[in-house]
Amino acid sequence: MHPKEKPDVNKVKFGSVFTDHMFKMNYTVNKGWHDPKIIPYQPVTLDPAAMIFHYGQTVFEGLKAYRTEDDQILLFRPDQNFQRLNRSSERLSIPHVDEEEVLYYLKQLIALEKEWVPKGEGTSLYIRPFIIATENNLSVHPSACYTFMIILSPVAAYYPEGINPVRIYVEENFTRAVKGGTGTAKTAGNYSAAYNAQNEATKQGFSQVLWLDGVEKKYIEEVGSMNVFFKINGEIVTPALNGSILEGITRKSMIELLKSWDMPVVEKRLSMDELLEAYNQGLLEEAFGTGTAAVISPIGELIWRDQKMKINGGETGNVSKRLYDTLTGIQTGKKADSFNWTI
Ligand code: PMP
Repeated sequence: MHPKEKPDVNKVKFGSVFTDHMFKMNYTVNKGWHDPKIIPYQPVTLDPAAMIFHYGQTVFEGLKAYRTEDDQILLFRPDQNFQRLNRSSERLSIPHVDEEEVLYYLKQLIALEKEWVPKGEGTSLYIRPFIIATENNLSVHPSACYTFMIILSPVAAYYPEGINPVRIYVEENFTRAVKGGTGTAKTAGNYSAAYNAQNEATKQGFSQVLWLDGVEKKYIEEVGSMNVFFKINGEIVTPALNGSILEGITRKSMIELLKSWDMPVVEKRLSMDELLEAYNQGLLEEAFGTGTAAVISPIGELIWRDQKMKINGGETGNVSKRLYDTLTGIQTGKKADSFNWTI
């Protein structure tokens, strides 16, 4: 096998280039998960009746490997991603994987592909574990067989020119998730169902939408495919996990960091009315999204109906900046990892 030529990562569009190898293992009812192996990166052949094509029984994860200044490769909280993968699988009636076993193989795969972990500020190797239903059958029931794969993709810095606050509008027509639905799972349909809202936002010159709860359209849930935080009168507020919000690993890490700094942080139900009132009183100090891709994405402007909220003068706030610098510092080995988040 000839290794591929490694591209200039700064010219690579997110998720468009893949490394030389991948991980694959299969599940059948009789054998359970079996035949784990690292193989050359290659297409998969599926029967047109494979259930993934018809009923969307699939889950995925997203995490990153980072290169430190002394050329170590660090993974950030991968155990959390495999725990969440199993929680997603539970929702989609997919059998659990052994979290320690898949982490072992991920480490083997990363060691084999270490040359693919890019050097350079803000760059990383994006890791995409996923499971698809592979039984060939059109009747509607959980598949009897599955394939689990991990593929790797080098990614450029999210902020080549420094953190950049974005414009967001509050989505009132489309719904991302409802309690009892699949919003807490990382599963394909949640993302394709958000495309219409995203397309409309892009058309109107916004980066993303702010999602509200699907029932009352009152309470704040997430921003694009990130969790969302606000600083209101000195307190950091993030929507409490309510059965339709995805439990972000960055979200969890931010809460743990803020607590370690003795900063007031609360998880609670937060309505748009309350947010607007805080804004009108001059108490809305910062707003930002959190997720693996950008770590922090500050919200500079938020539009709700005919109200325009300009937050922190459209600039990145101090808490956003401190969280960003600390978390990226830990991820890349520049700052001490007192939480033991990296391995
Ligand atoms: N919400 C949604 C819907 C997401 O897809 C993601 C990205 N996984 C997040 C939040 C942020 O999660 P994390 O911090 O684990 O990347």
